Amino acid sequence: MPELPPAFGFLASAHTGGGGLPAPVFATRGRHTRLDARLGGSPVEVDAVLVHPGADAAGAHACDGTTLVLFAGEIHNRDEIRAAADLPASASDAELVAGLFEKYAVHAFRIVNGRYAALLVTGSRVLAATDHAGSVPLYVRPEPGRVLVATEVKALAGAGAVVRGAPVPGARRVRGLTGLHQVPAGAVLDVRTDTGAVTVHRTWAPPSHRLLMPEDEAVARVRTALERAVVRRLPAVGRPLVVLSGGIDSSAVAALASGALASGIDTLSMGTDTSDEFPQARVVAAHLGSAHREVTIASADLLSLLPHTVHACESTDPEVVEYLLPLTALYRRMGGPPRRVLTGYGADIPLGGMHREDRLPNLDTAVAHDMDTFDGLNEMSPVLSTAAGHWSTHPYWDRDVLELLTSLEAGLKRRHGRDKWVLRAAMTELLPAETVNRPKLGVHEGSGTTASFSALVRRAGAAEEEVAAFKARVVQALFDRTVVGGVHPDEVDIEEIVAKAVAEGRG
Ligand code: AMP
Ligand code: MG
Repeated sequence: MPELPPAFGFLASAHTGGGGLPAPVFATRGRHTRLDARLGGSPVEVDAVLVHPGADAAGAHACDGTTLVLFAGEIHNRDEIRAAADLPASASDAELVAGLFEKYAVHAFRIVNGRYAALLVTGSRVLAATDHAGSVPLYVRPEPGRVLVATEVKALAGAGAVVRGAPVPGARRVRGLTGLHQVPAGAVLDVRTDTGAVTVHRTWAPPSHRLLMPEDEAVARVRTALERAVVRRLPAVGRPLVVLSGGIDSSAVAALASGALASGIDTLSMGTDTSDEFPQARVVAAHLGSAHREVTIASADLLSLLPHTVHACESTDPEVVEYLLPLTALYRRMGGPPRRVLTGYGADIPLGGMHREDRLPNLDTAVAHDMDTFDGLNEMSPVLSTAAGHWSTHPYWDRDVLELLTSLEAGLKRRHGRDKWVLRAAMTELLPAETVNRPKLGVHEGSGTTASFSALVRRAGAAEEEVAAFKARVVQALFDRTVVGGVHPDEVDIEEIVAKAVAEGRG
């Protein structure tokens, strides 16, 4: 992998008449490159802006005269695609998509395994595609004669209300923004530019079946799949940075990255003035010999970044925002040149780690539910880190790892009195015993984020039983203000938002 992908995001308009591009407003930090393409044999003209970390966005767009591809993010199964589509080693990710499309049409997106959002325009069709997890969010505003597509919905908010917007079956509407839809995870929205009519093609679904297998086989398969996912995410040159909580998830990623690289890795842990897991992370860093750094953030500073978190992830889910707040703060405080960051994010979802549940049917019900409802929460969004110039990637949500972990029967996840047993067992040789055996603490707990956010709404007058509902109101108000309303998060006073949310909640 190069240190960073060629583009972090894009905004595009495919139109037959007038009506170009709204202002390119992104939380993502980077240079902007404008494209203007007219396709042969098509009435459609495309205007686009790519937001990218390097001097140019070469590699993130491809056009052969009749088909245009825009690509944000990166592909993980490049070698297989090159072989299947007979493409040279020099082909960029955008060219790989174009080449696959020529051979497989829309089914190309069933083949690509990566962390990406893509746009493909050909004839009078506009295809907006997400990876299996929708890990790079993508939004569409279809209208007869003009289709707008962007990796951040705030970039489309300025385009005004849709007059003749067609319904988009199967796609989630966006709060407060009429006519705007989010492309589902593992899907392609296929839009006709003349009518604005949309067809949805599914390219991935979470497995519903479960696999029984002997302990040692499960352990070996998890170890192999995770190692492969980590290795596929390492930079070709330079050192990766692993954000390390000291829990089993991020420690496993750090151990596998460290084992694959003679040059070693960097690790970074964050804590707050009220809470940290520094000692636990230090144990891992010392064991691996990583170049380790700690960052302490004052709780008040952490809470002041709630608007930035919502602005970046564009989620209205208060729990998700609570998980992502400490990471937002961490990425902003990292400093230095842009980095490729590996996380242990998301392991708990297929493994049922957050559910302190001993009964296997209940555990599997929880896993199935979480895998059916992650879509649209934007938990994996790269914008948390690209807003600070860094690229984050999550090995547990690699398509192969996620499929394997989800499909293991619940008794391999909860076993011998341990949560996430199969992962812990896969790491026994690589990590200290205390790390392998340490019970789960979520980032929102370990950093004291949940407690700080609760204290904030309580100070504004919320009673104990009102805290959760008022947090939800705060997050919605932040979404309305920063994403829909276009107010920069630096301009948002979180105390004022909280006071208003509590007053309105009462009223
Ligand atoms: P968790 O909810 O603990 O699974 O957090 C998700 C991921 O965020 C972890 O696997 C780490 O990669 C990262 N992370 C969580 N907490 C911290 C922390 N205190 N310092 C650095 N990274 C963290
Ligand atoms: Mg964890």
